[in-house]
Amino acid sequence: MVNRFQHTKFALLTLHGKEQAIAPVLWEKLNVTIVTTDAYDTDTLGTFIGEIERRLSPIDCAKKKAELACSLTGMPIGLGSEGSFSPGYFGLMTFNEELLACVNTEEQWVVVGRSYQPCAVREQHCQNADELAAFISKTPLNQGLILKAQGHIGKGLVGESAIHGQLYQWFGNTLPWPMTISYDLRAHHCPERRERIAQAAENLAERLLSACPNCDRPGFWPDEVRFGLPCKWCSSPTNAIIERVALCPYCQFQEAFSVAEAFAEPSDCPRCNP
Ligand SMILES: [Zn+2]
Ligand SMILES: [Zn+2]
Repeated sequence: MVNRFQHTKFALLTLHGKEQAIAPVLWEKLNVTIVTTDAYDTDTLGTFIGEIERRLSPIDCAKKKAELACSLTGMPIGLGSEGSFSPGYFGLMTFNEELLACVNTEEQWVVVGRSYQPCAVREQHCQNADELAAFISKTPLNQGLILKAQGHIGKGLVGESAIHGQLYQWFGNTLPWPMTISYDLRAHHCPERRERIAQAAENLAERLLSACPNCDRPGFWPDEVRFGLPCKWCSSPTNAIIERVALCPYCQFQEAFSVAEAFAEPSDCPRCNP
């Protein structure tokens, strides 16, 4: 694979120090340097992200941030990161999706890297000091906490002493119960999210290195799956994947990649295992 990005620079808006997760990956995989910017009008961005963008999907939000990084720096290639949380299939777990969009405003293409993983999200209404201590002791290292008590709210509190310091500042020695404690999921306070952002950056790097064989734009990736692998017993089409298809959104060139297996297990067959 040809690395066309060798020793180029990508722009990134510094939101919660996400470059710490992204820059090492893009350097290792692409030899790309990240140029961060905080030279934005916070009001513009606030309105941009808060008011208008709230109606946008996470993927459109990531793209908009990447375009903004370009226009603020005057650089042709920009990155935009957007994370979201949603319940899993059975509502039992919370999933964290991290998207990292890369936009080239000169060549007019966009490639999006993605990570989608279950994420630890905890919240508890503590009735006493023992419950609070138990919650804190089960919190992973460097995971920030949000504490809510009697109309006060403290964010980004890391470790037991930070919690107790905050409580003492608010209430002195007489603590009001109950109070609510939860994980602070902002990227700079959530090590697990930073890992996911790094995974999305890895996925982005792989996609950037994969160019369309027809028009040579990056991001040619087999995202589409087709089902119908023949059954081992009766050869009729099953619900198992037969091939993955890459479709270039710019020139419509497509290429199918067959799976390694020639036949599906009868358990996936609607005929043999109805
Ligand atoms: Zn193409
Ligand atoms: Zn069958």
